[in-house]
Amino acid sequence: MEYIKNYINGQLVEPTSTSYIDVFNPANGEVYAQVPHSNIQDVELAIEAATNAFDSWRALSIDERSLYLEKIAAKIEEKLDVLAQAESKDNGKPVWLAKAVDIPRAAKNFRFFAHAITQFSTKAHEMAGAINFTLRQPIGVVGTISPWNLPLYLFTWKIAPALATGNTVVAKPSEVTPMTAYLLSEICIEVGLPKGVLNIIHGEGISVGSEMTKHPKIKAISFTGSTRVGKEIAKVAAPMFKKISLEMGGKNPNIIFADCDYEQVMKNIFRSSFGNQGQICLCGSRIFVERSIYDQFKRDFIQITSMKQVGPPALPESKQGAIVSKEHYNKILSYIKLAQEEGGTILHGGQAVHPEGYENGWYIQPTIIEGLPYDCRTNQEEIFGPVVTLTPFDSDDEVLKYANSTNYGLSASIWTQNINRAHKMAKNINAGIVWINTWLLRDLRTPFGGMNDSGVGREGGEEALRFFTEAKNVCIQGGF
Ligand code: NAD
Repeated sequence: MEYIKNYINGQLVEPTSTSYIDVFNPANGEVYAQVPHSNIQDVELAIEAATNAFDSWRALSIDERSLYLEKIAAKIEEKLDVLAQAESKDNGKPVWLAKAVDIPRAAKNFRFFAHAITQFSTKAHEMAGAINFTLRQPIGVVGTISPWNLPLYLFTWKIAPALATGNTVVAKPSEVTPMTAYLLSEICIEVGLPKGVLNIIHGEGISVGSEMTKHPKIKAISFTGSTRVGKEIAKVAAPMFKKISLEMGGKNPNIIFADCDYEQVMKNIFRSSFGNQGQICLCGSRIFVERSIYDQFKRDFIQITSMKQVGPPALPESKQGAIVSKEHYNKILSYIKLAQEEGGTILHGGQAVHPEGYENGWYIQPTIIEGLPYDCRTNQEEIFGPVVTLTPFDSDDEVLKYANSTNYGLSASIWTQNINRAHKMAKNINAGIVWINTWLLRDLRTPFGGMNDSGVGREGGEEALRFFTEAKNVCIQGGF
């Protein structure tokens, strides 16, 4: 049994309560680690450490802070194998995926913001007899709260810009997948990150996340997770006038026109539907296909999907691994049942899988469903698993209506060779991120986030550097 510890004031420590929560390996359904069941006392200790560290951290030069971030990035790269194995064991995702995507991206997050901060600049506004210039100053102690689907990837996506801009951080990873956050605390110790600059508190949302949100000394909260929890955070943070960034759920449309590059669509469709077991907020879970190619698309998509193996995350041939938790597994299966009750036909999948030797793990076949109205619950609510629906359409206006029919607005993918149509769709779709003829192609400088129930604010590049700083205008009247 592995025991995870909190990281407070530069040290690995037990939770004050000495109580722990089970951590499961989704591949076999067994408990393999214990994570601190922290409470308000641990949060207080972390905030105290972060408060004490703030003045000296913000006083460092940009180059000095940048160098710490670079060192962390290099260590993550050095430990690629260990971190990828840990991420896979904790989350159920295939090892090859963690190695190709999650861990390299975590290193890239630190490296990207190590560089970005050296390029961050502010404006000056000259007027008659005076000049204004803008300072962008760190906020102070900030809180980050992240989910289980891309554990280290999203954890570091928040921490890196917060540190780069001179804030000190209290960070809470998901209690479902805490292992790589723990390994990151070891890395911070190895590279000599000054004590208290980053503090990692493990535990449940209700006892750690909500305590962070309501704590007056935490001046900003950057959250990624469900819309339900985002709402809770907004409710508490708004009257305290905290800065909040909320990255939440989605129900993304994937729109395929008859004039698409069909081969390209086929190359991407499995990944954009079922990547990471469909547990990526950006996965296209509602696939709309122009009627003239609908039957062909359906046949080819089913064929491609049937060739992909669901199995133990450690095996290279497993294209889909295990679902993160029993609770989430049951939720996904209940949505498949709901889709049938709503009149949907399962074209592929729909069942749990029990690989030999891993019978108690949580595996679900990639599932393709058709025949559902665009406005039924299956097509409106986030399932966040390997489940997609297929719907034919006849016109641009019709598909736009379908695409914009949910409360969400995170991302959309549009497949067409017609540039005018692509522009028109991109402009009219309610989403923070639109991909044309691609999916999940990311440039970390671009604004990242959603509208409506999918989010408030944007992450990435300058957006993140702005979020984690306060703008202060200085106006100097002078004899010039
Ligand atoms: P979740 O909202 O249940 O939990 C997210 C984090 O919030 C966890 O660390 C959790 O412990 C914490 N938390 C729970 N209750 C809290 C409370 N009352 N106060 C403060 N913190 C609390 O989400 P999840 O199940 O971990 O993740 C899946 C969700 O995340 C999906 O809805 C998915 O779409 C979303 N997501 C969004 C993005 C994005 O960029 N928009 C990216 C990844 C995942």
